[in-house]
Amino acid sequence: MERRVRVRFAPSPTGALHMGGVRTALYNYLFAKKHGGDFLLRIEDTDQTRFVEGAESYIQEALKWCGIVPNEGQGYGGDLGPYKQSERKEQDLYRKYAEQLVTENKAYYAFDTPEELDKMREDLKKAGVAAPQYNSISRARMQNSISLSAEEVEKRMQAGEPYVIRIKMPRNEEIKFKDIIRGWVSVHTSNLDDKVLFKADGMPTYHLANIVDDHLMNISHVIRGEEWLPSAPLHIHLYEAFGWSDTMPEFAHLPLLLKPDGNGKLSKRDGDRLGFPVFPLEWKDPTSGEVSSGYREKGYFSSAFVNILAFLGWNPGTSQEIFSMDELVEAFSLERVGKAGSKYDPNKARWFNQQYLREKNNESLAEELLENHADIEELKGIDKTFLAEVCGMMKERATFLVDIPKEGDYFFAAPTEFDEKTTRKKWKEDSASLMTGWLTEFEAIAEPSSEIIETKFKLFLEKRELGIGRVLPLFRLLVTGKGMGPSMFQIAALLGKEETANRMKVGISTLG
Ligand code: GLU
Repeated sequence: MERRVRVRFAPSPTGALHMGGVRTALYNYLFAKKHGGDFLLRIEDTDQTRFVEGAESYIQEALKWCGIVPNEGQGYGGDLGPYKQSERKEQDLYRKYAEQLVTENKAYYAFDTPEELDKMREDLKKAGVAAPQYNSISRARMQNSISLSAEEVEKRMQAGEPYVIRIKMPRNEEIKFKDIIRGWVSVHTSNLDDKVLFKADGMPTYHLANIVDDHLMNISHVIRGEEWLPSAPLHIHLYEAFGWSDTMPEFAHLPLLLKPDGNGKLSKRDGDRLGFPVFPLEWKDPTSGEVSSGYREKGYFSSAFVNILAFLGWNPGTSQEIFSMDELVEAFSLERVGKAGSKYDPNKARWFNQQYLREKNNESLAEELLENHADIEELKGIDKTFLAEVCGMMKERATFLVDIPKEGDYFFAAPTEFDEKTTRKKWKEDSASLMTGWLTEFEAIAEPSSEIIETKFKLFLEKRELGIGRVLPLFRLLVTGKGMGPSMFQIAALLGKEETANRMKVGISTLG
């Protein structure tokens, strides 16, 4: 029988979720949905020293905003919980498994103090070992249940001496596994150390908790960032040591996200330094108070953000670029995820948002503006139908929704300034009388629709034997204060006869 697809996103709440983390969650989600499986959220918070206030709720909110919603896990229910490792630890679940390995001689107790560990590293360095490790060779000279007698171990335990449990990595074996993205990966155990599985503070390490939980939660595929690839051989070894090889998940390590110049990994620390956010939502660091911007607050649509992330490592193999979540589910496969690091391109990201903006209907844009950006001064007390018309005229020219009221401020109030360059180039001595002439014609229109205004405007040009470039920029300047914008005839029709005429009058007398 085919195994049910069950994948998990397993972040550690050590700060805001980086966009690379959201991409990992997204690929897991897409994979689960594609195969009719489950997508779990598990919070890996065993490292208490790295706990950050608010990080867990940030993760939850970010996933929700993106529509990457788990169907099981922390905050989503399920029979295999708790789904937060600190709560699982309370049941002494991890200790039991670590002890099992000790009993079977696959792990051991180690009592070494930090000073003893330092000394071991120093001694080995002096002896010419470039990267000293606690491993199958050095363990013999350390304070552990392999080097010490059973009585000595018992005595130390009775005395309450702190100890950890380390994996007993075999000396001369090859660990091999097939990564879905990278193909065969093979590592010799002589290059691996005896990692700590269980800490002196009673907490499991990431390695132990991760493997135990993936096993107990019936995880079928582990899809995670490339930074975890070096840990994978230890994880494979742990599955074997526990006797769980038959149900071991398949692994897929996703490519790194690189800075726009391709120079290194895009990291949390890049913050806004490179001119774009690295976090989905704004994040205020609780310790430093430092605020980092988020895609949501910058005005990205969550659908565009998801589309951007989908393409950072995956491609559909066709020229289609715009994908809804449902289309992504349909098209996604791990086979089409590349090995090479993926460069983040901020211009392309803006382009994606622009495409989504153009596709949305005017009414929903107006609604979204009124709901989420009510603080924008221009929007106070604005009629929704009027705003929808403005959105229709402006959306082709904008990248973000908030550009519409900002760049189209003249829809909401008469201009108080006139574009300097246009004024300098176009406003001549006879412009006032010329525009007064057009004003008279305009005011004579009984019901000015954009078509009628355009017809009358053209007649006016013919009568005076003038080119469009002589008069239209002046009309725009007087009514909007700008040198560019959408159709002037549509603008004038929307503003209405009285408002347009008033603005022209004020403009003519101001510019003289
Ligand atoms: N807790 C790990 C992290 O923070 C999870 C790694 C994994 O998916 O195995 O990324």
